[in-house]
Amino acid sequence: MRLTTVGTGTVAPHPSRVGSGHLLQAGSVTLLMDCGSGVVHRLAALGLPWQEITHVALTHFHGDHIADLAMLCYAFKYGQMPPRTAPLEVIGPAGTRDLFDRLALVFGAWLHAPGYALTIRELAPHETCVLRDDVTVSTHPVPHTPESMAYSVSTKGRRVVYTGDTGFDRAVAEWAGGCDLLLAECSLPDSLAIPSHCTPRQAGAMAAVAQCRQLVLTHFYPPVEVVDIVAEVRAQYHGVVTLATDGWFIDL
Ligand SMILES: [Zn+2]
Ligand SMILES: [Zn+2]
Repeated sequence: MRLTTVGTGTVAPHPSRVGSGHLLQAGSVTLLMDCGSGVVHRLAALGLPWQEITHVALTHFHGDHIADLAMLCYAFKYGQMPPRTAPLEVIGPAGTRDLFDRLALVFGAWLHAPGYALTIRELAPHETCVLRDDVTVSTHPVPHTPESMAYSVSTKGRRVVYTGDTGFDRAVAEWAGGCDLLLAECSLPDSLAIPSHCTPRQAGAMAAVAQCRQLVLTHFYPPVEVVDIVAEVRAQYHGVVTLATDGWFIDL
């Protein structure tokens, strides 16, 4: 499978990082994990096949993770000729259906009947589902907002875990244990640490507990970018560390 970090930023306007969004391409599945502000146009800028997205998975309902969801639906309906006909499945925490209901109040009822089969599947924490073929997704609650979930995506013996936004949590790290790649948030420096986000040291500690094969960091607020993130992570975790940029990708 190929993972591309499409958007590695936050709510803070940034010259080179849009809101959160990560594309996993695995066989017949093209999965967009989160769809934050700027992600839809960034997909096009990177030459990624946004038209072929089969699934969207939302970690939680903050704007830097969902603000482009309606834009993606507009793109499928009005941004290509002919309009999309392939089915789309949106998965997310409890409240995802309500989110679509609210978006439809703002943008129109067509969001529920966009001209292709739209399935909204709400997943509970600790739930596992098969997306298609042998691509499996499972969830784990994370300490950020009440609905926030991390995703584990497995196929052909490979496993990627995406934390979404999270504070340090040993249970999440243990659940991610042994994964090939941990895509973890790294929001704030020690001087601004809060329980609902990770510092570099905490992201490194999560990776150390998980014993993941490699750690890829994302979701950087500008104040964390002025510290030596890799050095702080290395104090905890000795595997491969990558600071993701918009457009970074890896084949697993
Ligand atoms: Zn965020
Ligand atoms: Zn958030």
